[in-house]
Amino acid sequence: MTRFDKPSKGIDAPHRMLDKRSLTYEEGPILFCQTDEPFLYEHVESITLSDEDGRASANGVLLFWQVTLQVHVYQLHEEGPSEELEGNDSIASFHEWTLPGREFHGLWESLIYDSSLKQHLLRYALSALLFSDRGVNSHLVAWNRVVLLHGPPGTGKTSLCKALAQKLSIQFSYRFPQAQLVEVNAHSLFSKWFSESGKLVTKLFQKIEDIVEDGTTLVFVLIDEAESLTAARQAALSGSEPSDSIRVVNALLTQLDRLKRWPNVVVLTTSNISAAIDLAFVDRADIKAYVGPPSLEARYEILRSCLKELQRVGIINQQKVEPYDSELLTFKILSLRMKERTEEARVLLSVDISRNLLAVAEACEGFSGRALRKLPFLAHASMGPLTDCDYSVFLAAMHEAIKREL
Ligand code: ADP
Repeated sequence: MTRFDKPSKGIDAPHRMLDKRSLTYEEGPILFCQTDEPFLYEHVESITLSDEDGRASANGVLLFWQVTLQVHVYQLHEEGPSEELEGNDSIASFHEWTLPGREFHGLWESLIYDSSLKQHLLRYALSALLFSDRGVNSHLVAWNRVVLLHGPPGTGKTSLCKALAQKLSIQFSYRFPQAQLVEVNAHSLFSKWFSESGKLVTKLFQKIEDIVEDGTTLVFVLIDEAESLTAARQAALSGSEPSDSIRVVNALLTQLDRLKRWPNVVVLTTSNISAAIDLAFVDRADIKAYVGPPSLEARYEILRSCLKELQRVGIINQQKVEPYDSELLTFKILSLRMKERTEEARVLLSVDISRNLLAVAEACEGFSGRALRKLPFLAHASMGPLTDCDYSVFLAAMHEAIKREL
């Protein structure tokens, strides 16, 4: 993702306007932006441009006349999740959000994968909802509206599900004026009060049915840590847990099947252990996508977005280097520059600091996205009471932080 500050006539003005009036776009930069419009200035907080068909060129240029623009205008819901407490230990059994929510704003753009995972998921979900909307006979063409993301922890699976729900709620707002996300942690269904679990599943799905019934609300049901269903089933079979747990798993699967009746429900599931997903679950999913640790390009881009954020708030100080040449380059542009091998390209400071960042990204092979996003914080904390520093100091601290993490 690249971020544009709202341009203005005064040279310094974009910096002052950063907090509320930034323009963002992901993957595909645009050719030009008209932002001096008083109307936009007054009413628009942010504009996100998204190149969903992957039409942008390698250096990130997207020509307006080559694409079909789809404009979605929306207002974010400010309230956070409401939660349902259950059992004697008062653990929240599920959380519920109204979409599109402030909490998930920018989440889709912040998730970086260099495969076309995001595009693939979005296209799948759009087709599934379209089929439902048009009333395609599911006996003739089968589809379930169930997505399963699996892979190691910290690779962004849960975030991707939430971001997808947010994105679909915006794109389908013409059809469904309201959207809700209900997040169930499968693990919490198997709390120590098994007798409660059955009731919990029934209550949860009763609630979901109440929401979907009116047909105007698009509902996303996110079931996190689905591997605990298998664990519970196996533990029950081996006799180490009460057979109640099998009943809970079965109840959950039956209820999920019942949800198929409604065209306005999408089920999103995640599992941290690819090998241990309940087969009944795997069968139901139309899309099963593996989400692995980030590649070098993804690691570089994740770290770059972290550093740009620290620069935005002034923790990394751009002023100590020449301002016109202190931008971190995108991975693609850096690769092009490194191939050029001209004297001019080599002396550019932006190439220099970007190569330094590349070395950092190379050093954290195997790190999850979550670990990468923590790294800049750890690096800063290790530097003592510094409030700001330049890129070279900060990147050196990151190298040290990686060594400690390893
Ligand atoms: P999982 O569900 O796979 O355990 P999460 O969705 O909880 O992972 O991810 C935790 C955080 O890690 C995310 O909020 C995000 O900040 C970061 N993260 C993980 N993977 C990525 C990625 N590919 N790109 C950017 N950030 C990522």
